[in-house]
Amino acid sequence: MPKIKAEKKSRVHNEVAKQGIMFNKSFGQHILKNPLIITSMLDKSALRSTDVVLEIGPGTGNMTVKILERVKKVIACEIDPRLVAELQKRVQGTPFQPKLQIMVGDVLKTELPFFDICVANIPYQISSPLVFKLLLHRPFFRCAVLMFQREFAHRLVAKPGDKLYCRLSINTQLLARVDLLMKVGKNNFRPPPKVESSVVRIEPKNPPPPINFKEWDGLTRIAFVRKNKTLAAAFKQTATLITLDKNYKVHCSVNNIEIPADFDIKAKVENILVKLNLDQKRARTMDIDDFMQALHGFNSEGIHFS
Ligand code: SAH
Repeated sequence: MPKIKAEKKSRVHNEVAKQGIMFNKSFGQHILKNPLIITSMLDKSALRSTDVVLEIGPGTGNMTVKILERVKKVIACEIDPRLVAELQKRVQGTPFQPKLQIMVGDVLKTELPFFDICVANIPYQISSPLVFKLLLHRPFFRCAVLMFQREFAHRLVAKPGDKLYCRLSINTQLLARVDLLMKVGKNNFRPPPKVESSVVRIEPKNPPPPINFKEWDGLTRIAFVRKNKTLAAAFKQTATLITLDKNYKVHCSVNNIEIPADFDIKAKVENILVKLNLDQKRARTMDIDDFMQALHGFNSEGIHFS
């Protein structure tokens, strides 16, 4: 044990000596050190010289300076003021300086400006909220090429029946085309993360499907709580029924519909599932069309998920 500790300490010392920076694990700071991977990510994002690019978590700017060579403007959002200072220093007095705008702060709490393309080696802990922040952002961007933890990347692209198929897969694929681009081993980063990585391309569907995303998300949340169970079982959960009952009563009062004294939300939901031939289906094998059919079926009977 003591030996491992000593090794760890010396690695941290090396980082500080090499970069003058101690990377902060809680910010997911793993700098991409292999320039070939940076170049490959930029090639795959098909940048145009007129593009405005959003980079999330530029860190010390290894990728930022390469993007700046290719496009009109880079907007980089970085949470760590020490790294913001590093990046500013790096472009100061170069022709890139006027093309770089830095936003200091948490990208999840920041209102994003217009951009054409998003390219980034992101902090993995914000992967899921970031994907949906991007996908719900308007106006549309052309595409995002992002580095993720490998398992997360596989979840994004999983298809019905795949082991990793989940709510993240279907919610993302409702709003975007997603493709795995390449595997990236941990030794391409400094310090190396514990997990392997993969790069994914996300292209928002434009126009988007005519679906209320909050309703959609509410439905898939219920269905995927236990994705191997039948929908009939998933919709028997008490908490689910209480929410649906409340939503139904709001729907009725807004639309001046009288609620029978013996109204039973459980029976109503069950009947709808049977009528739609969905009661024996399981989320793990249901595709986007199945969920669209379910959502329309429920909504047309006054059942709402948000
Ligand atoms: N893109 C750089 C650094 C990647 S490390 C490179 O590849 O070299 C992840 C970066 O995201 C770090 O710079 C970290 O400080 C930053 N970061 C972490 N959480 C963030 C958040 N919520 N908003 C914006 N930046 C964040």
